[in-house]
Amino acid sequence: MSTQTAQSPPGSSQRTRSCATGLACHRCDKHYPLQDTIFACPDCGKGLDVVYDYELAARHFRDVPVSERPQNIWHFEELLPIVDASAQARVGLHSGYTPLIRADRLGAELGLGNLFLKDDSTSRPSLSYKDRVVSMSVARLLERGKTEIGCVSTGNVGTAVASMAAKAGVAAYVFYPNRLENTKARACMALGAKVCQVEGNYDEANRRCKEVAQATGMDFANITLRPFYAEGAKTAAFEIVEQLDWQAPDHVVTAAAGGTLSSRLHKGLCELQLLGLSETDSTRIHIAQPSGCNPIATAIVAEEAEVRPVTPETAAHSLAIGAPGDGYLVIDAVLKRGGTGGFASDPEIFAGIDLLAATEGLLTEPAGGTTIAVLEKLAAAGRFSPDETVVAIITGNGLKTLDDHPQKDWPDKVDCELDAMLAALSDLKAGATLIDSARAQLHA
Ligand SMILES: [Zn+2]
Repeated sequence: MSTQTAQSPPGSSQRTRSCATGLACHRCDKHYPLQDTIFACPDCGKGLDVVYDYELAARHFRDVPVSERPQNIWHFEELLPIVDASAQARVGLHSGYTPLIRADRLGAELGLGNLFLKDDSTSRPSLSYKDRVVSMSVARLLERGKTEIGCVSTGNVGTAVASMAAKAGVAAYVFYPNRLENTKARACMALGAKVCQVEGNYDEANRRCKEVAQATGMDFANITLRPFYAEGAKTAAFEIVEQLDWQAPDHVVTAAAGGTLSSRLHKGLCELQLLGLSETDSTRIHIAQPSGCNPIATAIVAEEAEVRPVTPETAAHSLAIGAPGDGYLVIDAVLKRGGTGGFASDPEIFAGIDLLAATEGLLTEPAGGTTIAVLEKLAAAGRFSPDETVVAIITGNGLKTLDDHPQKDWPDKVDCELDAMLAALSDLKAGATLIDSARAQLHA
């Protein structure tokens, strides 16, 4: 628990209730001022984490009842890193607080009596969990008085940056690798961002974007602003526990790419415990990756402390990060919590999408399909007791990726007259249902 005192940023008149006190290196624990613009430890090169005065946070939290807090990304502002109230007021006022949905039909399919879905596929404004992290980046950018933001993205970060930058009145530049779902890039341009597609995979584009940031001085949402960006992911953990009436779930299952979400779920759960808001120690975190890009899950299964980078080959483009920056943090979090890592093939991922659609009426993208396919495998392997509370996080929306999903059989056009339409309806009723094909694929 830090004993440092939270301070106002220079030049700011109004301060949030943030109890952030500084930045600390994940590896060597060297500390740096919160106002510093470094994003990696100058000594060891590892990422930096925001640290807080948790005693102050506990007091501040008691000062304002939950019922009087905004139902948005700033609900737990004590544990978020933005200290300038004017910057905070311009970002994320309708982000966060996505529904936690009781998934009875999917639960019955998997033998789980208390299954919930944290539905970030309906997140505002850009329909993915990335609204959580990008809101912190854009608020930090405003705090620093800057007017341009870049990002490197497998798809969803880009649309979140494009949307939030437009609302905040700053220019957005999105760098995409060579493989992504086109709808995501088109959405960026439709939102006014300037888009550059580079010939290289995500890991290569990410490396070059660091150089672009250094050469231009432009901040990148998920590179130079990364310590702040990552903090937004904790809000998913805070909300899940609050939405379960402060009873932490037994298990959380989520997809992993760079590792920000799963590692910060762990941090968020630990913070709720530190503030005395919930007993979260026994919550296990399980991560899901595609078989074609599973460096973190592989390391977890082998109980290795570091990730070995891979070259991604998967239809789940938003999970195609072969050298995940926060991979070692995820391994640590999952192993400490007694969780595990699982992976799913591309056909299983699309069957996961179908199973979720057919049981819960939610259309997710391949990342969400990966989560559901691995959830099914973990349930089948007996990793959950039937009465335990399990939360699966649905991180993105399938409307953005539908053009890249396998084609469903499309019936021939029939004449617009009664007999032809009755015959067509009869054929449709005789055909396979979505849930049948999903079951066949997942239980094969
Ligand atoms: Zn260090």
